Amino acid sequence: MNERLSTLSVAKFGGTSVADLPALNHCADIIVSDPSVRLVVVSAAAGVTNRLVELASGTLDETRRQLLLREVAAIEYAMLDRLDNPSAIAAELDGYLAEMDRLSQFLSQHPGEVESMDRLLSMGERCSSLLMTQVLLQRKMAAVNFDACLVVRTDDHFGRATPEIGAIGRLAREQLAPLVAHQVVVTQGFIGSDNRGRVTTLGRGGSDFSAALLAEGLGADNLAIWTDVDGIYSCDPRVVSRARPIQELSFNEAAEMATFGSKVLHPATILPAVRSGTSVFVGSTREPEKGGTWIRNRCDSKPVFRALSLRRHQTLLTCHSLNMLHAQGFLAELFAILARHRISVDLITTSEVSVALTLDQTGSDSSGRALISEALLEELSPLCRVEVEQDLALVAVIGNHIAHTAGIGLKVLEAMAGSNVRMICQGASAHNLCFLVGEEEGESVVRRLHDSLLPE
Ligand code: ADP
Ligand code: ASP
Ligand code: MG
Repeated sequence: MNERLSTLSVAKFGGTSVADLPALNHCADIIVSDPSVRLVVVSAAAGVTNRLVELASGTLDETRRQLLLREVAAIEYAMLDRLDNPSAIAAELDGYLAEMDRLSQFLSQHPGEVESMDRLLSMGERCSSLLMTQVLLQRKMAAVNFDACLVVRTDDHFGRATPEIGAIGRLAREQLAPLVAHQVVVTQGFIGSDNRGRVTTLGRGGSDFSAALLAEGLGADNLAIWTDVDGIYSCDPRVVSRARPIQELSFNEAAEMATFGSKVLHPATILPAVRSGTSVFVGSTREPEKGGTWIRNRCDSKPVFRALSLRRHQTLLTCHSLNMLHAQGFLAELFAILARHRISVDLITTSEVSVALTLDQTGSDSSGRALISEALLEELSPLCRVEVEQDLALVAVIGNHIAHTAGIGLKVLEAMAGSNVRMICQGASAHNLCFLVGEEEGESVVRRLHDSLLPE
């Protein structure tokens, strides 16, 4: 077969899509029905990574540790036992479960040992790709299980590693391209390795990101994100029951939605797709016939209001500096400290003597560590007095020409009447208007805004 297929698609299946054997069979139906799908990227089965995070904390008593291990084993064995030929992969699966036991025991003695934490976290995806490959082989497909660590090269920031794009492209061309020409390759999302071969993870929800990086590396035409909703909705359907699926979105709008809390896509997913011009599809594994959302570079409709996002558990940092009055370099110093602590800032407003900013928590560190550490506060203390407010929610209005359309501010603020708005940000992007409200108000604010800005 030619090394460059006429159309090459990458399909990523999320946690609920690989949660049990019927779900794996739905994935297989999708793969079998589309011969252009040559790379399959899988997440850990639903509930597994959360348990591995707890096991990796190293703070559990033995009873809890054993319970979590049994629960993970039950999820994986429920799939294994229902395969036509479980013995084909039973030893390998047992090996992964034994490794979870060994690593979690080691971490109980050495809590915080980040290398082992990532190795432990990687086991959920490894189990899924093993099982998925076997399901495809049962369907008489040519399929092979491939270790993502051979291609997804990252730095060594365990828990939230940064991918090295150039290396991933080179490794994908060398190692993956020849394989996908002859069979369906199944690999793990979320995990990679540094240049010393040590396993790393990309942060929670990172399988979408892995799939986008691999699609870019392979120069794929399409990337399909198969999940538990039939597309990207005008708002999280769990929050707004009247939310509607969106047929087509631009890269810009999708990136804003992902960044500002629409969990359906990991925030970093869109950038690789933009770089490689790969179209992204989001659809439901259980109901592929319903269609879904296409995200493309160009899209015909450009409504002013497209969607709303809600991001919970936001932290507002207000940094007061008396030296800031007419001073130069305060922001540079502040941001340098935040960068050293690998904190990315998303909203920012300033006054003459203070800066208020919110911290980006989505796609956060796989270890579950808090973003604001004692070390960070200590480093900031000579520069400014810091106030930390928790329990806030970030609401983002997403659309087009937001910064240049008359009357938007009034319409949005009217819908917000009665709410205590802690911060408003508009102007940097034509595609969003963001504000912070108290966590307890977040959902009701989003529902009111949806009724007013996106009526049926
Ligand atoms: P997966 O495990 O497949 O990666 P996720 O749970 O990460 O799935 O993402 C899918 C979920 O994202 C949906 O169940 C839905 O509740 C949530 N979600 C949040 N915002 C949106 C949105 N705008 N459109 C669709 N789903 C959304
Ligand atoms: N399994 C990982 C997580 O739960 C990655 C993913 O599902 O995208 O965060
Ligand atoms: Mg996800």
